Amino acid sequence: MIVNSSDWPDLQLLEAAPILAWRSGADGLCDWFNSSWLAYTGRTLAQELGNGWTEGVHPEDFGCCLQIYLEAFGRRAPFEMEYRILRACGTYGWIVDCGVPIFNKDHHFLGYVGYCFDITARRENEEKIDIFCHDLERSNAELEQFAYAASHDLREPLRMVVSYSTLLKKNIAGHLDEDSKEFFGYIERSAKRMDEMIRDLLDYSRVERHGNNIISTKLVEAVDYALQNLSHRIKEQNAEIKIDFDPALKVMGDAHQLARLFQNLIGNALKYCAAETPPRIRLTAEAAKDGMITLAVEDNGIGIPAEFSERIFQLFQRLHTREVYDGTGVGLSICRKIVERHGGKIWVSPAPGGGSIFRFTLPVPPD
Ligand code: ADP
Repeated sequence: MIVNSSDWPDLQLLEAAPILAWRSGADGLCDWFNSSWLAYTGRTLAQELGNGWTEGVHPEDFGCCLQIYLEAFGRRAPFEMEYRILRACGTYGWIVDCGVPIFNKDHHFLGYVGYCFDITARRENEEKIDIFCHDLERSNAELEQFAYAASHDLREPLRMVVSYSTLLKKNIAGHLDEDSKEFFGYIERSAKRMDEMIRDLLDYSRVERHGNNIISTKLVEAVDYALQNLSHRIKEQNAEIKIDFDPALKVMGDAHQLARLFQNLIGNALKYCAAETPPRIRLTAEAAKDGMITLAVEDNGIGIPAEFSERIFQLFQRLHTREVYDGTGVGLSICRKIVERHGGKIWVSPAPGGGSIFRFTLPVPPD
C-alpha cells in the first residue's frame, strides 16, 4: 500500500473495526494494536508492544509464524498466516493474520498494517473432518484387509472339505442309499457355492489392492473387451446391444476395471431379462459436466423395485433365490467399488418401458 505523505495511513477506522488489527514499524516491532485485539487477547497495549504479542502465540505455531513474517518482511511483501493465540478466556483461538506492507509516495518502506479474523470454528470443523476421514480410511483399509485375508484363508479348509468328502463318497460308494447320495449332493453344491462366494469376495477386496493406474482410456475398448467375454451368452440369448456414444470418447480409468464394470452390468442385463423377450441393452453417455461424464447401461429386463435400489449395491445382497437366478450378490458391490475408486457414483433407476437403467459417473481427461 502506498500512502501520499510520509505519514502512516489513518488508523482511526481500524481502531473502531470489529476485526483485530496491528501495526509494525520498519524495524519489525509492533507499535499499535486496536481495541478488538486487546479485548481478544485480554492483554494491555504495553504488554503487546514490540514483540510482546508473540508471548500469546501457541508454541507449536510460533516457529512457522516467525518464518513467514521474517521472510515477507525481508521482501517487503504482503503475507497471510494462520496461528493460534491465547485468548482472554484462557484458551487458544485460531486467527488468520494478513499483513500489508506500507510505503510512502517516495516508495520508502514504513512497516506493516495487519488485520486478523477469528477462524476457530472453521479450524475445529476441519480438524473434525480430518479425524473422521482418517478413521474412515483406516476402517476401510481394515475391512479390505479382513475381506482379503478371510477369503484367501477360507479357501484352503474348503478345499479339504471337498477333497475328503469326495474320497469318502468314493470309499463307500457301493453302500450309499438314496438319502446319503442326496446328502453328498448338498455338500458338493454348498462347497461349490461357498467357493464362488469366496472367489467373488477376493475379487472385491482386490479392486483397491490390485488396481492399475487411472489413465486416459478409450471407453469403447473396455466395452468391446466386456462384450467379447459375454459373446457366447449374447448369441445364445439373441440379445441386441446398442452402443450409443462417440467411439472416440475417452475417460480417466483403469481399463481392466472398466471392462469388469461393463461386464458385470451387461452380464446382469442378460441374466435378469424378462421371460420370452430377447434382451435389448443400450449404452449411452451424457455430455461431460464439471470434469465428470455420466454413462448408462439400460435394459428391458425384469426391473428393480425402487425400495431395493440402494440395497443391491451391498455385499451378498440379492433379490432372488439361486434357484431362480444364479449368483453370489457381489457383482454390483464390485461395480460400486470400481466407480468409487475412480471418484464417481453409481445408481439405478427404472427404465421408462420397464427394465432398469444403471448410471455411473467417471472422470474425463483434462482438455
Ligand atoms: P448377483 O447377480 O450375483 O446376484 P449382483 O450384485 O450383480 O449379484 O446383483 C445384486 C442383485 O441385484 C441381483 O441379485 C438382482 O436381484 C439385482 N439386479 C442386478 N442387476 C439387475 C438388472 N439388470 N435387472 C434386475 N435386477 C438386477
